[in-house]
Amino acid sequence: MTIIPPPKLTHEERLAALEKAKVSRRDRAEVKRAITVGEITIFDAINDPRESIRRMKVIDLLSSIPGVGKARATLIMERRNISPTRRIGGLGQLQLKALSKELSLAKVDPMRGKLIVISGPGGVGKSTITSALRSDPRFWISVSATTREPRTGERDGVDYYFYTEERFQNLIDSDELLEWAEFAGNRYGTPSAPVEEWRNLGKHVILEIEIEGARQVRNHDSGALLIFIAPPSWDELVRRLAGRGTDSPERRAARLALAEQEMAAAGDFDATLINEDVEALVAQLVSLATA
Ligand code: 5GP
Repeated sequence: MTIIPPPKLTHEERLAALEKAKVSRRDRAEVKRAITVGEITIFDAINDPRESIRRMKVIDLLSSIPGVGKARATLIMERRNISPTRRIGGLGQLQLKALSKELSLAKVDPMRGKLIVISGPGGVGKSTITSALRSDPRFWISVSATTREPRTGERDGVDYYFYTEERFQNLIDSDELLEWAEFAGNRYGTPSAPVEEWRNLGKHVILEIEIEGARQVRNHDSGALLIFIAPPSWDELVRRLAGRGTDSPERRAARLALAEQEMAAAGDFDATLINEDVEALVAQLVSLATA
């Protein structure tokens, strides 16, 4: 058997590793302090994208909550089958939900996440922007229900829930949709229950929906943050819509007419962000959402 020796670090590499460890310790101590004094909730820490915090042990986090302490934290984790060595970044969705339930039993109120609506004319790049937020642990992207047929590559339960007209109607009748609207001959709607669950876990929930649905959300929830994505110019939007080569001339004309109506709705939103550069826009969006 050959034994592979540990990699030899140069002096500079060892210094860099020591410095990184020092920063991690400082970040973790700061997060624990902030939880203890009630400046942040444990869900803010769970949603913190910093590597130093993602690698923090769940037990350390729970123990910092006022009134919980190490013994109770250990009990909670045992009851929910969470390994004592589990780190924050390794918590699964079910474990997160279980923790939320435990904390509400313990009367520890996690801060609810925001409801953020992203809307704007077709062709403006809404879905590219939402996809860019998918890897950020502070956000959860809602999955809509629709009656339209799946496009090539789209997966049921991931891109949309693809439902029959009848099933969609049942959701409306049983009041299970936060909003719904008809668009280009199909119906689209946001299931309410997951939005509530994820907000209770402290995640900011993103809905990427058309204008009419955005207006309904505003009527239901005055605290929602409505963001309108606009193209750099009308000509640029026309160019982007024309770029969708699959449309017939009639279909393209209909899309443009609709886009004109959609652009007129910008005034109903809390903020308008111009999609010149996706990365810059996502950064603006994150700072608005987490402000
Ligand atoms: P597509 O069929 O191209 O995926 O989506 C068509 C339009 O429906 C897009 O503007 C999209 O933002 C919107 N949409 C997607 N899901 C929902 C939803 O749950 N509610 C509403 N109102 N619009 C949605």
